[in-house]
Amino acid sequence: MRAHNFGAGPCTLPTDVLAEARDEMLDFAGTGMSVVELSHRSAEYEAVHQETLRLTRSVSGVPDDFAVLFVQGGATLQFSMIPMNLLGGDRPGGYVVSGAWGEKALANARPHGRVYAAWDGAADGYRGMPDPGEIAVEDGSRYLHITTNETIGGIRMVEFPDTDVPLVADMSSEYLARPVEWDRYDLVYGGVQKNLAPSGMAVVFVRRSVLTESAPDLGDYLRYGFHAESDSLGNTPPMFPIYIMGKVLSRIEAEGGVAALERRSALKADALYHAIDESDGFYRNPVDRRDRSHMNVVFRLPTPELEAAFVAEATKAGLIGLKGHRSVGGLRASLYAALSQESVGVLVEFMTAFRRAATV
Ligand SMILES: *Cc1c(COP(=O)(O)O)cnc(C)c1O
Repeated sequence: MRAHNFGAGPCTLPTDVLAEARDEMLDFAGTGMSVVELSHRSAEYEAVHQETLRLTRSVSGVPDDFAVLFVQGGATLQFSMIPMNLLGGDRPGGYVVSGAWGEKALANARPHGRVYAAWDGAADGYRGMPDPGEIAVEDGSRYLHITTNETIGGIRMVEFPDTDVPLVADMSSEYLARPVEWDRYDLVYGGVQKNLAPSGMAVVFVRRSVLTESAPDLGDYLRYGFHAESDSLGNTPPMFPIYIMGKVLSRIEAEGGVAALERRSALKADALYHAIDESDGFYRNPVDRRDRSHMNVVFRLPTPELEAAFVAEATKAGLIGLKGHRSVGGLRASLYAALSQESVGVLVEFMTAFRRAATV
């Protein structure tokens, strides 16, 4: 039986994708090998690679003047690569620090250039995103970095910064689950393991003009140009996530693409927030209502003991991965792309039954 996997990452993947990968594991496309044993220079792998690149473009709707890169090292390496590649001159990079990930992005940029917090929600416990007018962008900034969905705090950006400075966005935990206003961005990135594929890489969308503009003195792998020039085949690529992501993206496309995924995500989140709001305060979501994440729903119970009991009993019932991040405690249900509405329904029923049992 498949678990109802609410884990914050890696994510649950479509069962039919896993079954297809299983069926192809001993003999991919008549090669007598699995896809991960093929040469990355073989025609069979090349076809997989190009198809995943094509699907990434078509599902995301990214314009032609952006390169699409598959880079190992997850979103974390991008925290460093972005300032390394973009802050070559003496212009600063601004950061909206809206949670644990925004904080890490800024901290990891510090060694590579002049960076500053354009807004910081730490003092407020990261309960919400800034109003656009609260973000203080320094004149001449090279970019403004945002985290559109903070995975740990469970908040999403609804109103985007009001600035002429190009945006750079970490979209890891809602990747391809909402449209992107590409005109406003120089770079959009995310680890694929939150919504789209097994762990092992980030997808980076980078405006091609950035590649020529910045001529930094970096080793090959650290330069965006290296990946763009080679279609991300400059060295041995992360073949397994690329292969699985191709299958996942073809499902997402067949099911209506980003717009449909956005709608399905909102429906799943609504069902859960409704269960929280209708619980007479037994379950509480600490986030400003406007900024509630559609992907990571955080909630508290009246006591830490009840929270521990909730996780233990939920696990027994096949509801996995509900413990909140260790830095904040509480509970968190992540509703990534392949998690079904039915799984959310099972969780809602469990929550109702748990509350009844706890409050008699
Ligand atoms: C998980 C996550 C990261 C870190 O991703 P890795 O791929 O593990 O490096 C960064 N940003 C956000 C918003 C995340 O959710």
